Amino acid sequence: MSETLYILGAGSLGLLWATRCAHAGIDCRLILRTPRALRDWHSGQDQLLLEQQGRSQSIHVPAELAGASQQPIQRLVIATKAWAVTEALDSVAPRLAADSQLLLLQNGLGSQQAVRARLTSQRVLYASVTDGAWKRAANHVVWAGVGRTLVGDPQQQPAPDWLALLDLAGIDWHWEPQIMPVLWLKLAVNCAINPITALHDCVNGEVAERAGASFAPLLAELHALLASQGVILPLAELRQRILEVIQATAANSSSMRQDLRARRRTEIDFILGHACRTARQAGLATPVLDSLYRQLQNRLAELGLPTC
Ligand code: NAP
Repeated sequence: MSETLYILGAGSLGLLWATRCAHAGIDCRLILRTPRALRDWHSGQDQLLLEQQGRSQSIHVPAELAGASQQPIQRLVIATKAWAVTEALDSVAPRLAADSQLLLLQNGLGSQQAVRARLTSQRVLYASVTDGAWKRAANHVVWAGVGRTLVGDPQQQPAPDWLALLDLAGIDWHWEPQIMPVLWLKLAVNCAINPITALHDCVNGEVAERAGASFAPLLAELHALLASQGVILPLAELRQRILEVIQATAANSSSMRQDLRARRRTEIDFILGHACRTARQAGLATPVLDSLYRQLQNRLAELGLPTC
């Protein structure tokens, strides 16, 4: 457990994890994307501000560029957006050993499988994170919502010992022996909420009303999609779970809506795109999902944003 924990991606979630690990005395390093980002980091004396409920603390977190060292990376947390994972992985690939272990924090599905397919000998763990964090500045992260993290191995191996570091960091995490159903359910919830909030520019609480008559068939399509992936639950239970999330996050703006508003690239391809492609492969007709996907891609194109 003595190896350095590398965190690739100094965004909202990467910074949140970095502050928590560094604060606990864990030997952790951030991997930044550009020389300029590293210069800025150093000009702030490698200090990172963690803000929670109006209180901030400053924590020293070392950072580097992927190519600046040949030090092998044994433990790597990837905290980029799903669409950036492949390029980010390329940047660190020369530093990975055959027995390196990776933990992927991305939302949606598809990026995890791409990493898994590329790294045939390394152990790749998947996570589902419900914390909410955002960046006030390059070295200032706000922990807006305390959540929990489920971690698992798609190959259903037991938890590796080094994850005890997360306990040390005070991260509320649990080992999930069946991580794929967890990620599929989360994807289904995201497909039911995010596209509608983005298309109607509304908060989560308005989703069912804005979707109107298409809401029930949308849930039925998601239910069939989950069943095709071995995630079996009654339609009424899926509906209940989605309504509970809508209620619990009624005042929130989904990440997809936030991305659209800020004119940032969305993770649509790893949420709706992955759902529609998987449905096609399973021979399922999903007209409501397909229509949401098309409408959202059109909206993104109108705004000059990537449609994938
Ligand atoms: P984010 O704030 O956009 O951060 C992504 C970071 O990755 C950016 O700092 C970006 O740097 C960096 N990056 C991209 N390509 C890179 C590369 N090749 N090398 C090094 N760094 C690279 O995104 P986020 O909100 O942290 O989300 C990360 C993932 O976690 C997403 O899949 C998201 O859905 C999921 N998630 C986030 C939260 C949350 O509360 N934020 C909660 C649950 C799950 P540049 O800015 O320089 O491009």
